[in-house]
Amino acid sequence: MAISEKDIQSVVAAVLQEMKGGNGASAPAASTAKAAAPWCATQYKGRKLIGIYHDMNDAIAAANEGYKAVRRMTLVEREKIITEIRRLTREEAPIMAELGVAETGMGRVDHKTAKHMLVADKTPGTEDINAEVKTGDNGMTLLERAPFGVVGAITPSTNPSETVICNSIGMIVAGNGVVFNPHPNAIATSNYAVDLVNRASKAAGGPEVLVASMDKPTLESADVMYKHPLIKLLVCTGGPGVVRAVLSSGKKAIGAGAGNPPVIVDDTADIQKAGKDIIDGCSFDNNLPCIAEKECFAFANIADELIGAMQRNGAYKITKEQADKLAEVVLVDKAGKDGKVRKIINRKCVGRDAKVLLGMIGINVGDDVRCIICETPFEHPFVQEELMMPILPIVRVNNIDQAIDWAVKAEHGCRHTAHMHSKNIDHLTRFAYAVETTIFVKNAPSYAGIGFGGEGHTTFTIAGPTGEGLTSARSFTRWRRCVLKDGFRII
Ligand code: NAD
Repeated sequence: MAISEKDIQSVVAAVLQEMKGGNGASAPAASTAKAAAPWCATQYKGRKLIGIYHDMNDAIAAANEGYKAVRRMTLVEREKIITEIRRLTREEAPIMAELGVAETGMGRVDHKTAKHMLVADKTPGTEDINAEVKTGDNGMTLLERAPFGVVGAITPSTNPSETVICNSIGMIVAGNGVVFNPHPNAIATSNYAVDLVNRASKAAGGPEVLVASMDKPTLESADVMYKHPLIKLLVCTGGPGVVRAVLSSGKKAIGAGAGNPPVIVDDTADIQKAGKDIIDGCSFDNNLPCIAEKECFAFANIADELIGAMQRNGAYKITKEQADKLAEVVLVDKAGKDGKVRKIINRKCVGRDAKVLLGMIGINVGDDVRCIICETPFEHPFVQEELMMPILPIVRVNNIDQAIDWAVKAEHGCRHTAHMHSKNIDHLTRFAYAVETTIFVKNAPSYAGIGFGGEGHTTFTIAGPTGEGLTSARSFTRWRRCVLKDGFRII
């Protein structure tokens, strides 16, 4: 059944109304909410959301029951639940997209809808779990991918419901239970997704609570999760702080951390296509995806043509003075533990429309502007900081050596994602080799790297630091070996 526009508006209005009542989330200024159906981190239209708890210990206990239920299921039964999660995700993608934008004030509804569709269509299912066999003179050894048990998952504000659903599919396919400690600025959206997974489970014959979450997730509740004996695996999708915390927990952990993806354009590229692809990728969901183009290194001899192509595709070019003024707004000073003051991103500007950001420095443009571009030196904070805003600094380079040197430095060793537009195989190979990123996209918008218009499965948890890469069900398993001496060999 398709969701009507009226239903979507009703959900969004209800969320905003509840947020005004204070569930910990901050409502965007442009709220049009009127009194509407009740909604909060634990309710939707008067119906209690399934799987949301006040105490992390209760949430873990519930997820453990979910784990026991999954262990009892056949693979066919498990796949039935996954099919229903995919169906509900497609059906309710517009609601979650609207909720995500309304609750966090970040991103774009059309792109968030597309991201949910991608999760529904391209997150691997039970086919991802394969056994291996070794046979020889001594018989047969079977290797199977087994569940960990209950997984504790930390999810971000940038792709909240996408990550909850993508993680849930992979972790359930692998036979685990899951408890989430979602981002405090995206609780309503994340918990809507948790509820969706539980509704799918029930409808497909699974337990009523398959995955669990918190009504008020905090750093303290995350800490309970890290230390709880039932949590056997931690999976963290977020910035450097939280990845560090999870990796220091003493438990097996998968860390999907920050990036700062550079894109190089050399003078053999199809420049018109490169200009369009880069703006398409950079402006996708207002640059929230961690894989999105964050800074561009363009050969000086094609830079003007590239900028022209970008301008014809929704980019608005600002001057150096305007760029410096914008930097004063989108970056703020913060004193570190060492007492040194450094620039960090202004959270109020993350994921905002290009039009809104330009408005902050007194430039009024229409809705057709989807990205801000500017020429900067390599040292500019727009190049060095992971902005997560539709702002693309362009740095002119003289040759491939300089391009690779600067692009590698701008990536800061995150080993996350990098892009290149070129037809020169040597250039493409050299950059890919030097930058050592988990994802390297050639001649396409960044999102091709997560299966959107590119081959391969999707994920919203890209684990560079711990090496799982683009996570899927098999990432959430552990190998077990069973040895049969002198038997089961048929040759
Ligand atoms: P964030 O780092 O602000 O927060 C992530 C989650 O961690 C939240 O729930 C937050 O409350 C919690 N948290 C923060 N510090 C913590 C600590 N010390 N202990 C326990 N919990 C803690 O993330 P965000 O702003 O929502 O997301 C943006 C960041 O995440 C960017 O750096 C982006 O690149 C990265 N990201 C990476 C991936 C990936 O797949 N590699 C995907 C999405 C986002």
